[in-house]
Amino acid sequence: MEHFKKEQTFVLIKPDGIQRSLVGEIIGRFERIGLKLIGLKMVLPDEKFVEQHYTLDPEWRRITGEKTIKSYRDKGKTPPSEDPFEITAAILERLKTYMTSSPVIAMVWQGAHAVKIVRKLVGGTEPLTSDVGTIRGDFVLDSYEMSDGDSRSVRNLIHASGSVEEAKKEISHWFAKDELIQYRLVQEQILYDVNLDGLLK
Ligand code: GDP
Ligand code: MG
Repeated sequence: MEHFKKEQTFVLIKPDGIQRSLVGEIIGRFERIGLKLIGLKMVLPDEKFVEQHYTLDPEWRRITGEKTIKSYRDKGKTPPSEDPFEITAAILERLKTYMTSSPVIAMVWQGAHAVKIVRKLVGGTEPLTSDVGTIRGDFVLDSYEMSDGDSRSVRNLIHASGSVEEAKKEISHWFAKDELIQYRLVQEQILYDVNLDGLLK
C-alpha cells in the first residue's frame, strides 16, 4: 500500500463557484489544511464529457436514482418516478446543462486521507443541509426542493471524489499523466516527517 501522504483526490469547481468569485476561497481551504495541489486547469467541458464524468462508476445511475427516491420519501413526498434510472436520466440532463454553462476548474489534491478530508471540507451534497463551516454550507443556499421545482441541477459549487477508487477514475478522465506534477512542498516536513530532524540549527 502507498503511504497515506500519497493519496490523491479530484476536485472540480463548478460553474457557480467561478461565477460567485469563490475560486480563491475554495482553493484556500484545501491549501490551509495542508494538502498539496499537483494539477490544475480551467476547462469548458462538453455534454458528452460531463456525462462520462458522472457515469465513470457504472453503478452511479442506479445509486443516485435510489438515493433521490429515498430523499423524496424521507420528506414525505412522492418521487417523480419509481424507476431510479428514469430519475437519474433527468438529473444527468440537468447536470449537462449546468456543467457546460461556463468554465470549470479541475484540480488534483494530494495528501494524507485526501479523499475523506476534502469531502469533509466540501460538506453534504444539498446546500440546505450541508454543515456550517463546510464550503457548501458556508457559501450557497440552494435546495433540492427549489432546484427540482425549477427543473435544474442543485447549485452546490463543487464536486469532489467520494472514494479513492472514484478519484483514480476521475483523475484519469480529466488529466493526462504529464499534467500532474510531483514536487516537494516544504510544509510536508512538519506534516509527515517522523523525526522532525533539522528544525533546530
Ligand atoms: P456529491 O458526490 O456530493 O457531489 O453527490 P452525488 O455524487 O450523490 O451526486 C452528484 C450530483 O447529482 C449532485 O451534485 C446533484 O446535482 C445530483 N443529485 C444527487 N442526489 C440528488 C437528489 O437527491 N436530488 C437531486 N435533485 N439531485 C441529486
Ligand atoms: Mg459523487
